[in-house]
Amino acid sequence: MFDRFNRKIDYLRISVTDRCNLRCAYCMPEGGVTLIPRSEILSLEEIYEVAETAVEMGLDRIRLTGGEPLIRRNIIHLVSMIAGIKGVRDFAMTTNGVLLQEYAKPLADVGLHRINVSLDTFDPERYRLITGGGDIRNVLAGIEAALKAGLDPIKLNCVIQKSYDEPDARDVARFAERNGLIVRFIRQMELAQGTFWIVQGGTGGNCARCNRLRLTSNGMIKPCLFSDLMFSIKELGIPEAIERAVEAKPERGMKSVNHEFYNVGG
Ligand code: SF4
Repeated sequence: MFDRFNRKIDYLRISVTDRCNLRCAYCMPEGGVTLIPRSEILSLEEIYEVAETAVEMGLDRIRLTGGEPLIRRNIIHLVSMIAGIKGVRDFAMTTNGVLLQEYAKPLADVGLHRINVSLDTFDPERYRLITGGGDIRNVLAGIEAALKAGLDPIKLNCVIQKSYDEPDARDVARFAERNGLIVRFIRQMELAQGTFWIVQGGTGGNCARCNRLRLTSNGMIKPCLFSDLMFSIKELGIPEAIERAVEAKPERGMKSVNHEFYNVGG
């Protein structure tokens, strides 16, 4: 599919839940999170249907996100269903890695291609502070399991303040180099203020070349992360919601006040 600015839209990011087992300071609002009522969260079958229709319409790159996708019950079953869709060219997941040691091999066995793991520091105490209590040993064990399972490539999503020359970022880059991983530096963004930057080592944030739509876990297709535009698959049906989102996709992001990173999947 192409939008009004002749950008090829071929990538769907699917948030399978807004729940997470971490509380990263830059993602989860200090005042606490307002979770989507469970009754509104799409079932695995509904998510599969959106993915299948999206691939038929030309969005043949799929990424599963959250919240944290690995806490969604029967996530392996969902991955195996989507991996079985004819025409999926690229199938990835973004995870905080806390449960990856347990899930890496099953994910690879049912057909996931590759994985991005969040890692902003190599210092256990700073990791605990940034993530609101996380244990970095779990993530490092998860990365090792993903390497063994053959998920490839493995990319590290490293959130930075301003520069990849910050001490934490340099440590993560060194770790990545030692282990044959790819690191992407994501400068902290503010949805409500509309502040964002191009991801270093990735394509996110590059509006001129933007190729993506997002599906929220309660069934909204969002044409842009930094916009409040959204189209309900429950009201419009899947093909119409995707078409309307592509037609309405803005030339560039502005700001978004109706979503937070944890319920739109970054
Ligand atoms: S801000 Fe919107 S248009 Fe720009 S890269 Fe992000 S999703 Fe695409």
